[in-house]
Amino acid sequence: MTVQEIIKEALREIKERGLQLTPGVYGEIFCRHAKRANVIIEDCQQMEKYLKRLSPDLQKVLRNRHVSTVDQLIQYLGSELARANPGKSSEIIQAYVLLVKRLLQAIEMLHDKEAAGMAERDRKMVGAHMDREEIDAVREHWTRFVMEYDDSYLDKLSVYCGEVPKEDLREMTEKLTECLRSYKGGGGDFTLVAQVLSAALVPSIASGMNDEIATIGAQIRSNPELLTSQAMVEDIRHMIKKRIELDKKAVTSRMTELDSIIEHINQALVRVIDCGESNYDAVKRIQVDLGEVDFKADSFEVLHTKLLAIARSLESETKSLSEEMKTSKEEIAELRQKVRVLEEALRKERKRSGTDTLTRLPNRRAIDDFLKKQEAAYKRYGDDYSVVLFDIDHFKSVNDTYGHDAGDVILASFGKMLRRYSREVDFVGRWGGEEFLVVLPKTGLEGAVRFAEKLRQVVAKSKFMYKGVRIPVTVSGGVADRKSNPSLEAMLKRADENLYRAKEGGRNRIAS
Ligand code: GH3
Ligand code: MG
Ligand code: MG
Repeated sequence: MTVQEIIKEALREIKERGLQLTPGVYGEIFCRHAKRANVIIEDCQQMEKYLKRLSPDLQKVLRNRHVSTVDQLIQYLGSELARANPGKSSEIIQAYVLLVKRLLQAIEMLHDKEAAGMAERDRKMVGAHMDREEIDAVREHWTRFVMEYDDSYLDKLSVYCGEVPKEDLREMTEKLTECLRSYKGGGGDFTLVAQVLSAALVPSIASGMNDEIATIGAQIRSNPELLTSQAMVEDIRHMIKKRIELDKKAVTSRMTELDSIIEHINQALVRVIDCGESNYDAVKRIQVDLGEVDFKADSFEVLHTKLLAIARSLESETKSLSEEMKTSKEEIAELRQKVRVLEEALRKERKRSGTDTLTRLPNRRAIDDFLKKQEAAYKRYGDDYSVVLFDIDHFKSVNDTYGHDAGDVILASFGKMLRRYSREVDFVGRWGGEEFLVVLPKTGLEGAVRFAEKLRQVVAKSKFMYKGVRIPVTVSGGVADRKSNPSLEAMLKRADENLYRAKEGGRNRIAS
């Protein structure tokens, strides 16, 4: 017996018994005839397969209630679910699992390989070992998946077939089949075309063919006889093929989109990791999560949820990291400001107290004060005193060759050297730049020259080091004593002139 004959048998029985030709009644009688004829029809077996998976008790209940079609089963399970406390009854869980599987099975019908594959995997994964929430999650995302399909073309078809239900794929295809059947008045070859057409009308990811479907719908309406024509069947087949191609493209572009999201997140992660170590572990965790996203195997919805979760935790990590950075930045800025204020205060204080910041020696002002005291003693008691004005030779080129920092180090070292080699009573100060003045109380010209010469030699023999490099340093000095000069100012001028002569004379020498 062929399928065609079974259909005719079923229809005949429906007519004889005066039953209403509904999809449910038709399905039940059709399957009974198929079984009797030993013809295996996938859809009829499905029900038996489902039944076998249920517990014997539940199977008994279903038989008592004459639940014999998948639709009735779903209806029954649905109402049971609504009443029962799901946490307690394993049968209900099993029934629920079945319901979810049914939905996933419906999705497998989609002419989108990608979606069908995902649904198939999820269907295998869903089982009684899962808890209600988990199953709910699977069901919900797939329900949404189906709902979000662009099926606006169904509205166009409804002009010809009345309202087409969109929530349930099975109901929808059955309604369409019924609609076509009404054009042929029952029986005949319509089922073949109806099957092909309803398969083509399964909601698709791509929406580029809605008009074409509507056109075919219009043609069928104006001439139902067309359904028997081979050309029409070919047209519909062609349309299905084209639709599959469009769907494939749509899937590819969605995958590309997801790819770029992943790439984007990854880049953001790298940036966060580069920023600092404090949140490193958290960020690392996110990256591990990201690495586990297998977007070939995961469904769009699962993938989307995962990515969203990752993006969210990334966002919060980045936020706390940047907040931390902001606070420490503010703290640093505050400290910097404090340091600046303190440095300025220190500089002022040093100046006020007469100390040169770099060499810690008395500055020009302090030297002047000391000279005034010496001058007073000279005038009052006739105590002679002398001055030596030292100037580092070719100091500009020291700076130029070794850098300003090296120059500073040499200035400080030379200052220390002067202090070390002078007496307690002698007064060493920084005259300015690379010039130093030593005031030698109770010292005449001869003693001062001896002192100056000693210093010159010490400097010439000393190793001035900066960052492991020896810098050759020599000094020149001009000496003057108070007794030989009419005034303090004249003495200082003489010392300066002598210094000039020492330089003129070739440097690294003392002139008096
Ligand atoms: P001369 O042998 O004729 O004395 O030559 P010079 O290069 O030592 O003399 P000049 O007066 O041409 O240059 C003095 C240099 O000393 C120029 C200036 O930049 C440098 N100088 C002055 N004060 C400081 C300082 O506090 N630190 C450093 N590193 N250099 C200074
Ligand atoms: Mg100079
Ligand atoms: Mg100099």
